[in-house]
Amino acid sequence: MVKLENMKNISSSDSVINLDHGDPTAYEEYWRKIGDRCTVTIRGCDLMSYFSDVNNMCWFLEPKLAEAIKELHDAVGNAATEDRYIVVGTGSTQLCQAAVHALSSLAGTQPVSVVAAAPYYSTYVEETTYVRSGMHKWEGDAWGFDKKGPYIELVTSPNNPDGTIRETVVNRPDDDEGKVIHDFAYYWPHYTPITRRQDHDIMLFTFSKITGHAGSRIGWALVKDTEVAKKMVEYIIVNSIGVSKESQIRTAEILKVLKETCKSETENFFEYGHEMMKNRWEKLRGVMKESDVFSLPKYPEAYCNFFGKTLGSYPAFAWLGTKEETDLVNELRRRKVMSRAGERCGSDKKHVRVSMLSREDVFNVFLERLANMKLIKSIDL
Ligand code: PMP
Repeated sequence: MVKLENMKNISSSDSVINLDHGDPTAYEEYWRKIGDRCTVTIRGCDLMSYFSDVNNMCWFLEPKLAEAIKELHDAVGNAATEDRYIVVGTGSTQLCQAAVHALSSLAGTQPVSVVAAAPYYSTYVEETTYVRSGMHKWEGDAWGFDKKGPYIELVTSPNNPDGTIRETVVNRPDDDEGKVIHDFAYYWPHYTPITRRQDHDIMLFTFSKITGHAGSRIGWALVKDTEVAKKMVEYIIVNSIGVSKESQIRTAEILKVLKETCKSETENFFEYGHEMMKNRWEKLRGVMKESDVFSLPKYPEAYCNFFGKTLGSYPAFAWLGTKEETDLVNELRRRKVMSRAGERCGSDKKHVRVSMLSREDVFNVFLERLANMKLIKSIDL
């Protein structure tokens, strides 16, 4: 019999659990403990104008949010903010599209190829194909991409779905037509060691995956080039005439608390998040250990400049594989676990992406069902 520790409170419910999307509800408990310290009061007469700062190129960016973003990056040491523009977006989903649009519209010839190394974040496919723009064309997997002409490579590091640390793979250093968008949604200390202060031309961040406040729909881009930043701002104006001020103000308040507590012994969010993720990954690996059915990637340890010690990686998604020739997403669905098919991420049927950021009870039900799958498999053998 497989034994799982700390699973006394598992619900024996038979309901479907959805680990397909990465809804970051795992962090609710921390913010509940923080209580009213992030509470924002907004009166009927507040925040009514479209404009936040007419002297800023990104005039819909709330100055308080800009300040909180800079201070947080400074405190964590994960990205350079000096000499670049901050563009705020309705989630980094909007910003990614704005960046692809900006780079494409500034390219000499069109359509511009857009690629990402498989396995990639499946939403990039929809983001670049849904509106059928004539300016860019999704070309899929960056490994082996050799088309001539302008291209954009999307680099996600740590990667969604497989948690690996990524760099560009197309690599044409002398090619002015090659542009890169770095998506650093998960480059935060609870997921991965902070090994360097990133300093790329276009870097995307999302509030959703730092603190778990996905519902606020706030993301930001750090952009070096003026023309690219201008085009991104233009895109957002056409798309949504700016970004909700209520959301920006709330985000600023929460980021401020995040920064204030990030050196605290007792309230450090990153410490909390890191412990929680580590614990979940240990439990998951515990279930996997006895399994000859499933596989999980292994991650090297590295020195984390933020925590000041050598640590492992605990990604927001588990990239679950199987050695058998199975359609894993369907196998899991039969056990009432929804996951994202590897094929959607440019991979194969033998892989799925499973969110590690659900509420604790859901995560425990997932482990229980996975352990039972292993048992059924061993009986089959
Ligand atoms: N990039 C990556 C790699 C992500 O995983 C996500 C969220 N799933 C996003 C961007 C988008 O985040 P949001 O739109 O919520 O800011």
